[in-house]
Amino acid sequence: MSQTTLGNRLLGRLDPGDRAILDPHLTPVSFRSGHVFFEPQTEITHLYFLEEGAISAVVTLDSGVSIEALLVGREGVVGCLAAFEPCQSYARAIAQIPGRALKIEAKAFRAVIGRSLTLARIVDRHRNHVHSDLAQSVACNTVHRVRPRLAKWLLRCHDRVDGDRLPLTQEMMGQMIGSQRTTVTELAGDLQRAGLIRYQRGALEILDRVGLERAACECYAVVRARELALA
Ligand SMILES: [Zn+2]
Repeated sequence: MSQTTLGNRLLGRLDPGDRAILDPHLTPVSFRSGHVFFEPQTEITHLYFLEEGAISAVVTLDSGVSIEALLVGREGVVGCLAAFEPCQSYARAIAQIPGRALKIEAKAFRAVIGRSLTLARIVDRHRNHVHSDLAQSVACNTVHRVRPRLAKWLLRCHDRVDGDRLPLTQEMMGQMIGSQRTTVTELAGDLQRAGLIRYQRGALEILDRVGLERAACECYAVVRARELALA
């Protein structure tokens, strides 16, 4: 089973006084799979503290090939690059797993952190984590083979949902690992034959998490350990 907790973990670390400063600016929103929050080279106008679901930062090359640089769930906030100063997005932020978030205008957030040192520290720490996650993604996407990268990605999604079912299409999986759909079909079939997952149209079930961890590249354990250290 995955290990998730209710609510956003960053906000969960705030004491009632800091939360009271932030709360009037937060708006609950829900999102579907495929919803785009930011496009590359556009200003990040809002931050999203995720309470459920997962959002990817995806880089698309001129050739049309897309690949994921970052995956954020309840443990984080999307748009944190704009937490301290106005900033443009370096990638497309797109929902992979539907969910809910608390949304705040970036400008309002920058005013709030001026009044809450605790919030500023929490978000700064998360931003540093994002940088380390990005560095790991660069190494992973450059060096590691596609099968262990797919296993890693499925585990990272699993960590961000309740239960063992992931609402993922092969097209989404292909975009995340930078592979053709036919490659994903082949790899998903391989993982299914190994008894690690069950895949039927648009729904993937994790059957053997330990086996999937063995199939994943080392990056999963590295990034997960960092996430748990922040929790
Ligand atoms: Zn890797």
